[in-house]
Amino acid sequence: MDFHDSAPEASFRSEVRAFIAGQCPPGIRRRGLGAMFGGGGWDDIRLGTEAYRQLNADWAKKLADRGWIAPAWPQEYGGAGMTVMQQFIFNQEMAAAGAPKGGNYGIGTGWAGPTIILYGTEDQKQRYLPPIVRGEAIWCQGFSEPGAGSDLASLQTRATKDGDDYVVNGQKIWTSGAHVSDYMILLARTDPEAPKHKGISYFIVDMKSAGIEVRPLVNMAGNHDFNEVFFENVRVPKENLLGEENRGWYVGTTTLDFERSGIATSVSHGLMVRDLAAFVREHRDDDYVSKSRALRHEIADRAVESEVEQMLCTRVVSMQNRGLVPNKESSIAKLYSSELDIRIAVTAMRALGAYSQLRRGSVRAQFNGRAESAYLYATTSTVGGGTSEIQRNIIAARGLGLPRA
Ligand SMILES: Cc1cc2nc3c(=O)[nH]c(=O)nc-3n(C[C@H](O)[C@H](O)[C@H](O)COP(=O)(O)OP(=O)(O)OC[C@H]3O[C@@H](n4cnc5c(N)ncnc54)[C@H](O)[C@@H]3O)c2cc1C
Repeated sequence: MDFHDSAPEASFRSEVRAFIAGQCPPGIRRRGLGAMFGGGGWDDIRLGTEAYRQLNADWAKKLADRGWIAPAWPQEYGGAGMTVMQQFIFNQEMAAAGAPKGGNYGIGTGWAGPTIILYGTEDQKQRYLPPIVRGEAIWCQGFSEPGAGSDLASLQTRATKDGDDYVVNGQKIWTSGAHVSDYMILLARTDPEAPKHKGISYFIVDMKSAGIEVRPLVNMAGNHDFNEVFFENVRVPKENLLGEENRGWYVGTTTLDFERSGIATSVSHGLMVRDLAAFVREHRDDDYVSKSRALRHEIADRAVESEVEQMLCTRVVSMQNRGLVPNKESSIAKLYSSELDIRIAVTAMRALGAYSQLRRGSVRAQFNGRAESAYLYATTSTVGGGTSEIQRNIIAARGLGLPRA
């Protein structure tokens, strides 16, 4: 099998690389270990200086002018209409350069917007899509509840019709970025008498609506990324219903498909392993690092695994490129990728030795203190977007034909 770029793919790769090199300011780039997830976008929104935020906004505008904030979207909606393979190349080059994706931190471009493209009315598309592709609107996702995560269809938040509005009451949890978001995609129960999958509707909610209270949840890395969101008699106009009333479950599963197909496309693990190897080479005089055969083997293992991950992701992308719908293949890639996240973070802690405990801000911190935060964050990869157990259930049932648990 030939994994090299075709001639048009190579030329597209050069175009993206040259654009990033010429236009993306070094001050906003995050590379390798330094780019490992650890209070990423939300952190920058809150902590970035005015100058930093301006650089980010200028970069987002340059991306937006090319439709590259939402490269996968059709051009008529402000995207670049890239093929799946072009998106893969684009994402690889952006990750390799540590270039931020621009404005809206994933949910808007990754799965809220694409769901609106599929299910939205013309008015909804005109209203909500342009601010996303300009990198201006931030979206959050109100799906999970205290009693509904893996079993999402058990959700209890109610939306009751009242005149031209729905009135929403209930609670969401783990809502990433709700504290900085303009809009939420919300799943709420509109028919409590119907079987659980059939009484749910899907709404677009303006986060400035009266009756919404966002309370912070601070994670174990000490960051405020996700939240609890409480709804008390929140009026949502009926034109904010996305798709048909009581058919929201099916709209929601489309959103989750978009979310999961993006998760497996991580291309940064190889760069992290490369950074770790460079750190060890630079510290060859350090007894612990140079004499630890186990550490050398561990880093070699991570290098092998990140190549395996690339193959698994390439398989998903090449299926999508041929119009096939990956199913167990996405679950295999998501499972492998998220568990590799943890293994790389553990290896990074071991390789950095005592440095690993130094946080961002310390003069001796390596990689801006991100090994430590990556270690604390890594466990979340195997939970968000469907836990590892749920992925294994899918692989067992759909991939191997084993009976459902
Ligand atoms: C970093 C992060 C960001 C998130 N952001 C958002 C967000 O923006 N919006 C949002 O709506 N949600 C968000 N979530 C929530 C996420 O979707 C849920 O945490 C996830 O779906 C798991 O649900 P739960 O936490 O209720 O765990 P549960 O579903 O209660 O699971 C608990 C444990 O039981 C296991 N388990 C459950 N069911 C089965 C089964 N059938 N077979 C075997 N094992 C099972 C699980 O694997 C897990 O180990 C986020 C989560 C994380 C970690």
